[in-house]
Amino acid sequence: MENNLYLTLFGAITGAIFGSFFNAIALRTVGERPWWGRERSRCPMCDHILGPLDLVPVFSWICLKGRCRYCLRPIPYRYPLVEIIFSAWGGLAMARWGLSTAGVAASLGGWFMMLNALTDLESGYVYDHLAGAVGLLGLVVRLFGGTSALIDGLWGSVAGGGAIAFIILLSRGGMGWGDATLMAGAGALLGWKMAILGTYSGFMIGGLVAIVMMVMKKAKRKDAVPLAPFLAAGVMVSLIWGPRIMEFWYQTPGWPWM
Ligand SMILES: [Zn+2]
Repeated sequence: MENNLYLTLFGAITGAIFGSFFNAIALRTVGERPWWGRERSRCPMCDHILGPLDLVPVFSWICLKGRCRYCLRPIPYRYPLVEIIFSAWGGLAMARWGLSTAGVAASLGGWFMMLNALTDLESGYVYDHLAGAVGLLGLVVRLFGGTSALIDGLWGSVAGGGAIAFIILLSRGGMGWGDATLMAGAGALLGWKMAILGTYSGFMIGGLVAIVMMVMKKAKRKDAVPLAPFLAAGVMVSLIWGPRIMEFWYQTPGWPWM
């Protein structure tokens, strides 16, 4: 159990670092700026180049009392919030799976799904190469599981991507092909049973949020809602609780989720 505590802490710290990094990647992708190269991190308000002390996830924000040390303007809540959510995910994934193939796959899978959620929230787009990264992750993980694991991933792609493609063709609106690419990628990581559960969970969560927002009059029925955050949430619910949920139907989730 004390081992688990250290692993959870390790996951949380790694998650905060991924959060800081992926937040920057999301902003640079949406702003069509290069990810790598000489470009340094800058204050989003005053453009001052940030030093290492400004870039420690969460802690910098707390120590600076939420303000840029150069221009003194408040740092958008997005920065610490993204880092905290990524950190929580890292801790949760390690607490659930430990340092195993499933633990590494779940951690990275959740972080990559949230990266796509961020670009979708920011710009309304799911970028093919960032959605494809989820699929690539899935296939690389499944290489360790042998042929049947690889085949399960391919069927997962078909199930996740196919379900969204089917809805796009039926409904003609609301969802974009980027969402289908994203779930094809997630399906490769999840395997076919977990892909169905993840897609279904994403729609359930999205539907619930939409109903709440309509009741609170924050949204109208026809408003375009970014779907990737809900799909990410559905996938992440499956990555943690999927196997338990499947027990109700006497199903096993397939490698490596057992
Ligand atoms: Zn500033």
